[in-house]
Amino acid sequence: MNLPETSRVIVQTGKRALELRELPLPKSIAPDAGLLRLDACGICGSDYEQYQGVMGGLPFPLIPGHEPVGTVVEVGDVAAQRWGVQTGDRVAVETLLPCGFCRQCRGGQYRLCSGRRGLNGYGYLGIDTAPGLWGGFAEYMHLDPHSILHKLPDHVTPEIATLFNPLGAGIRWAVQIPGTKIGDTIVILGPGQRGLASVIATTEAGAGCIIVTGLSADEHKLTLAKEFGAHHTIDVEREDVVQRVREITDGKMADIAIDVSAYATEPVTQAIDVVRRGGTVVLAGMKGPRPVENFYNDKIMGKELTIHGAFGVDFHAYEPAIQLIASGKYPLEKMHTHTLPLEEAERAIQILAREIPGEEAIHIALVPNA
Ligand SMILES: [Zn+2]
Ligand SMILES: [Zn+2]
Repeated sequence: MNLPETSRVIVQTGKRALELRELPLPKSIAPDAGLLRLDACGICGSDYEQYQGVMGGLPFPLIPGHEPVGTVVEVGDVAAQRWGVQTGDRVAVETLLPCGFCRQCRGGQYRLCSGRRGLNGYGYLGIDTAPGLWGGFAEYMHLDPHSILHKLPDHVTPEIATLFNPLGAGIRWAVQIPGTKIGDTIVILGPGQRGLASVIATTEAGAGCIIVTGLSADEHKLTLAKEFGAHHTIDVEREDVVQRVREITDGKMADIAIDVSAYATEPVTQAIDVVRRGGTVVLAGMKGPRPVENFYNDKIMGKELTIHGAFGVDFHAYEPAIQLIASGKYPLEKMHTHTLPLEEAERAIQILAREIPGEEAIHIALVPNA
């Protein structure tokens, strides 16, 4: 394939500092590595945290972007065999680059890999680490030997394909972790990408009653939640969440509650309050350094709750996510609100974080030459 000598990339140099640069493409590809031409890269809440500089330990300057989808343009012989791909294949690339040898990797929990230091994955490695092209906010990205690739069917557009990430999260966090079964009642706190993906995932799992909470400003997201399968929505600014869940469930309360909201800590205590005795709470929202107020030990002890943290997604959830996207069963395009070019990476992140008045986003993808 005829490749250029450089790649346009977005480089983050520090807190709220992004710039467009050109970096050289690697001169040669190792037998166990490859090169990806980006077709799109999804943006999520953690891109905003990274942009804000609240994510610790990042080796600036670096190329952000951890939800990449693209076309394999070069692949070494060993990698082609291991990954089962050849040049021209369209793939989604998992964020993490697990070592494959530590206790967690060998135990089947590569999300928790401790074999390499720091946040080891695409979007989080410095440009000074060769070959530098470690992020999805770019035209080209290096494919490290530890990459985990998923082949994409031809009929799925790159922007929709980037939903493999939030959808994978919904499948793992709202179904696989709590063991959601046919007929279960689940409360999903937060109607963003992950909340809506949780609605789709729990609908697929056969949940009997799906309740989603959000702010008044989230009205369009709550409407979409219903379209994806939610039975009830609650505006937390106008209604009492616990009281509403009590009414809806006729006093039985929920089997499962999942918090997928960012920053706010009230949903954590609400999750504990809306589940029944013996219920399960999944905590999947990042809160930064804030403690949870009004956290009462005895509510968990007395109700014998199971509380489960959720961080990241893995192969077991990405595979069904991609199948679900390919099936066309849900109108996912309604969730994808913005496609923006590389040059507008900063604006894209600000739109997602509601920093730009008049712009309301749910899911945004950067497309290099949009
Ligand atoms: Zn993400
Ligand atoms: Zn490992």
